[in-house]
Amino acid sequence: MYTTIEKVYHDPVAHGRALKYDLHMHSSVSDGALTPGALVERVAEAGIDVMALTDHDTTDGVEAAIAAGDEWGVYVIPGAEISVSWRGGLLHILALGVDIHDRTLQQGLALLRARREARAIAMGERLAAAGIDGCLEGAQSYSDGPSIGRSHFAADLVARGFAKDKAAAFKKLLRPGKPGYVPCTWASLEEVVTWIKSAGGRSVIAHPARYRLTASKMSRLCEEFKALGGDGIEVVSGTHSAHDNAMAAGVANRFELMASQGSDFHDPLQTWLGFGRLPALPKELTPVWHDWDPISSDDAYRADRLGSTG
Ligand code: AMP
Ligand code: MN
Ligand code: MN
Ligand code: MN
Repeated sequence: MYTTIEKVYHDPVAHGRALKYDLHMHSSVSDGALTPGALVERVAEAGIDVMALTDHDTTDGVEAAIAAGDEWGVYVIPGAEISVSWRGGLLHILALGVDIHDRTLQQGLALLRARREARAIAMGERLAAAGIDGCLEGAQSYSDGPSIGRSHFAADLVARGFAKDKAAAFKKLLRPGKPGYVPCTWASLEEVVTWIKSAGGRSVIAHPARYRLTASKMSRLCEEFKALGGDGIEVVSGTHSAHDNAMAAGVANRFELMASQGSDFHDPLQTWLGFGRLPALPKELTPVWHDWDPISSDDAYRADRLGSTG
């Protein structure tokens, strides 16, 4: 019987159609609603052939997702969505196809999770000062994994009636300038590109339209990212409008960045676009997966699955 790696390698066209890729998804290991196994089951049901698990600042769900992928016939790309501070703002950089045992990458991710922990403590204190007690404990009760974040605070604030839904919790309490917001210095762009390279993966600017950068600042970001050795940009995102996708496609073209696509799935109850039906990438772009050869490029991942620690 084929493993899913062999299936993708030997059968690049499944059932006479192009493979479906979704390279941006969250599980309960960070701020997603589903465990890695339950997520992969849904991914299989949605007809997606290749997915990347990209939890915030952790790869801890990857092994469980790969095991579920073998069961459900989904090829799971090991990944993460890494928090970056750039010119006073926050960026998300996707790591795709990384060796999860790479020490440089794991030390970097551990540093970011330690900052998340410290930020969570400070957020609890700030919310208490604003008259809402018990937020740290509340957020911790919604966090199953090692990567605590604002989404877990939002879940607790909604459950205790301080906001009508998560969006309202962010708007009232968790965004910059609001009582529960604590600024945090994440990794630099250079550090993150270096960590991802060290782990043999590709770095991709996530959902570029979400940062609301001016055209000139977007250009500066792409120039800097290219100069550091960055690989790609998410052109099609479940969180983008059609207009946003077109803007990102133009940027990918201009800066010769490979194009990625992903739903940014978090929760089946959320209104999310594109899970299993993302619009196709424009034909003139080079997909980030164009030369993926799962057998030769994933030796470490493969060795790990075969029980070797090498
Ligand atoms: P953090 O990385 O802990 O600062 O949290 C950012 C995460 O919060 C994002 O990845 C989203 O999943 C979630 N988030 C951000 N803004 C909103 C919003 N307005 N409504 C719901 N979730 C949000
Ligand atoms: Mn998230
Ligand atoms: Mn993001
Ligand atoms: Mn995401």
